[in-house]
Order: sequence, then structure tokens, then C-alpha cells
Amino acid sequence: MSSKKRKPLLRYLMSILLLTIVISVVYICFTIVYDLRVRYYNTTVLDNIAEANEACAVKFRHFIADIEKETSWKVEIISGLRSRETQIQLKRDNPRNAAVNKSRHVLGRAVDLILYKREGFRTIQLRKASSKASWLASRVPEIAKRYGLLWGGTYKNYHDPVHFEVN
Ligand SMILES: [Zn+2]
Repeated sequence: MSSKKRKPLLRYLMSILLLTIVISVVYICFTIVYDLRVRYYNTTVLDNIAEANEACAVKFRHFIADIEKETSWKVEIISGLRSRETQIQLKRDNPRNAAVNKSRHVLGRAVDLILYKREGFRTIQLRKASSKASWLASRVPEIAKRYGLLWGGTYKNYHDPVHFEVN
């Protein structure tokens, strides 16, 4: 009697366990592919910058390596070297963006980056809209200072914490 009752329960538990394992494996594969894609894109952007300004590219490479070594955050570059046309368009889209003759991105002297980390199945991000306090807590602005980089989180009239530039 009791074995008949237990069997469906056991089967149910086994299927739950199997499902959990499958979901975890799929998720882990997804994170590995995501991180590889980010790493590849970061390298591409830094190589691009190097073509315009080798010294700045080297500095950004060390800066990013230090962030990933000294904090729990991973770095995803969202913008590097920009063409004059792109910058003109950005200024048109949002007048608060830098003019083409002012933007360090055109000279290969700036990067925009977001930070991310995973907690369980959750991904936490620090983006442009994130508060200055949470960026400061990441210790990334502190590392930037060490490299003499200007941080967009310190701008008076424009909150741009993703932006780091060589002065
Ligand atoms: Zn920027």
C-alpha cells in the first residue's frame, strides 16, 4: 500500500530535481556565452581605441583589469571610439551629450562602461541611471582616480557615471 503511494511522490521529486538541474545548466551556459561575448566586444572596442590612441587603450585595459580583479563587478564597455558623425547624431538626439569638438570619444580618450554581477539567478547592473552613491560603493571611481581618469559621475549638470576619460 505505502509503496504505491510513495512511488508517484518519488517520481515527482525526481522530475523537480531534474528540471532544476536542466535550468541551472542552461543558465550557466547562458552566463558563459554572455561573458565571452562581452569579453570579445570589450577587446574589439579597446583595439579600436588603440588605433586612435595607443596610450589611452593601454590605460583603459589596465583600469578594467583592476576593476575585475579588485571588485566583484564585471565590466561591459558600451561605447568607445566614436566617429564624428555618430557624435553629431548623439548630440542631435540629446542636446546634453557633448558636442563633436568637445567629446573625448571622438579622440579615443573615453570609454562608457556598465558594471554587472550575478547573485544566484539574478543579474545586478550599474548603469547610467544608477545613483552616484551606488557607483561610489562599487569602488570603480576610486580605481579610476588611480589612473588619473576623469569620471562622468562628478559632472555638475549631467549625470554620466558610465563615462571615464583621459584628461
Ligand atoms: Zn562617454
